[in-house]
Amino acid sequence: MPVPEGTVVVERASAAQDFGPKLNRTAADVVRFLMQHGEMVTATQSLSDDMMELFAAEVGAEIRLVNPGEEQEAELQKLLGVADQDNLNGGEAPLRPPVVTVMGHVDHGKTLLLDRIRNTHVVDGEAGGITQHIGAYQVERNGKPVTFIDTPGHEAFTAMRARGASATDIVVLVVAADDGVMPQTIEAINHARAAEVPIVVAVNKIDRPNADTQRTVAGVAEQGLVPEAWGGENIYCEVSALNGDGIDELLDQMLLMAEVEDLRATPEGRACGVVLESNLDIGRGPIATVLVQRGTLSVGDPMVAGASWGRVRALLNDRGEAVDQAGPSTPVQVLGLSEVSIAGDTFAVAPNEKLAGRVADTREHWQRLSNLGREAHALSGGAKLEDLFTRIQRGETATLNAIIKADVNGSLEAVIESLRKLETSEVRIAVVHRGVGGITENDVQLAYASDATIIGFNVRPDRKAREAADAAKVEIRTYEIIYKLLEDVSSAMVGMLAPDIEEIVTGEAEVRQVFRVPRVGAVAGCYVQNGAITRGAKVRFLREGTIIWKGEITSLKRFTDDVREVQSGYECGIGLSNFQDLKAGDIIETFDEREVARTLEG
Ligand code: GDP
Repeated sequence: MPVPEGTVVVERASAAQDFGPKLNRTAADVVRFLMQHGEMVTATQSLSDDMMELFAAEVGAEIRLVNPGEEQEAELQKLLGVADQDNLNGGEAPLRPPVVTVMGHVDHGKTLLLDRIRNTHVVDGEAGGITQHIGAYQVERNGKPVTFIDTPGHEAFTAMRARGASATDIVVLVVAADDGVMPQTIEAINHARAAEVPIVVAVNKIDRPNADTQRTVAGVAEQGLVPEAWGGENIYCEVSALNGDGIDELLDQMLLMAEVEDLRATPEGRACGVVLESNLDIGRGPIATVLVQRGTLSVGDPMVAGASWGRVRALLNDRGEAVDQAGPSTPVQVLGLSEVSIAGDTFAVAPNEKLAGRVADTREHWQRLSNLGREAHALSGGAKLEDLFTRIQRGETATLNAIIKADVNGSLEAVIESLRKLETSEVRIAVVHRGVGGITENDVQLAYASDATIIGFNVRPDRKAREAADAAKVEIRTYEIIYKLLEDVSSAMVGMLAPDIEEIVTGEAEVRQVFRVPRVGAVAGCYVQNGAITRGAKVRFLREGTIIWKGEITSLKRFTDDVREVQSGYECGIGLSNFQDLKAGDIIETFDEREVARTLEG
């Protein structure tokens, strides 16, 4: 039978039993063919991109691989009616403020510049007022607003672009006049260019005695950003983030640029835009900072952000004040979503709550499927951190499958970005799953199924997860310093994993109640659930799996007696000398450290 004409759309990680029939072949045809090429797969096992392309070439079919859910996503967008509103955005729509991202080499002054702009140009002139960092803020210059995304650095920018979101209209490239063009300066230029976003160059630190503005400008111009003064198209501003010189001019240039770009968006219709940041607030639930790109977002709106949804319970502006509405180019914090979304997810207000829920659920379903696909695929070629080197030595291309969990979205993205930079032609890092929050039993199951190492940053496994990991021999590595994490992974790559400091959890107690005792401070009434709690033991406090404090136990009591140790099954009072912010439900975990030599398997 001939293969179908034209391009056949195939979902990544399809199994032979689905893939074969799409090309008018049987599952057995596919399996047999792959077997001849040294790949042993069953009819129900997920196939890799290469396998599918190889087979398609063999039978002369043309295929286009799509991620599971990609086709469905277009349908969901239709359901939400996002595209229907495009006509509202025509030439008639009013101008909107430009959205600006600041990039540049580390220490060139991005943070200080963002702070300076914010403190001197807050909307109502209340300089030095509340500076709530929600991921973005808006300032005014001569009555005209400008929105800044205040997570500097190209990591956030790229992470967002990788998810298909474009939030930025203008990039400000900060270059220190006493340092000139540095590696991250060039990276930033490349990222801005790839995104086709215009660049304004801010030559910073001109107050420094060793500042060499001319040389700096020449260096940047060499990268292809030719100044207007030299007949080029790029705007340069000389500024000092320290004393504020040139900042007004910089803002004027951005506004001028915005005019030229003719940035317009309608405040009419249901809002849509992009998630800039998202985290879990213990008291208030999931909070997302979003940038409204079109329409007006109002309290009470049913909205979907990635795979989370809900009715907007409250909106907070960049100064932490409750507002009822937010229009185009306005950053605002949203309360009321069902879960933490991912930076770069798009959001949209749905016609009704039911539809919002349905779209979010469908997305979650597809995400799970695509994780499963990757997981099954990973099964065939993944390696754990410990035996990564053995594979490389055997001359195989090794893939480190990783599940990455972190305390907040920002660090999650940072960890993943940094890991990506360690990739070489020999070692690839496949992120099987990522998420914000403690390490759970689910993560361990997924790690087991996909032969992945779990990497936690500022988070810990709970007891169930730990037990499951022990039973399934899943490797969990937790870090509190990103540098240590990267060092371990790169050491594994060259087969030099240092002796591991193994932590042995010796006891676990749940906080039942916190008392304030005059002159003593806070005392946590606890129930020891596991092991024993010992005075002087190293300890960390966990809230929903996230580390909130580390230190030592200084006082331990049973009733009124000071005791040295309390065994599991008993209640006790734990004195909190330095850390007072415990709540009922928090976990106090004590641990010992001991050095164990690493063994390389294989
Ligand atoms: P980032 O890493 O790019 O965010 O850089 P920071 O904003 O943290 O600045 C790095 C260092 O340079 C800090 O010590 C700042 O105080 C200093 N700095 C930033 N801008 C200026 C400036 O215009 N003049 C001077 N003299 N120092 C600056």
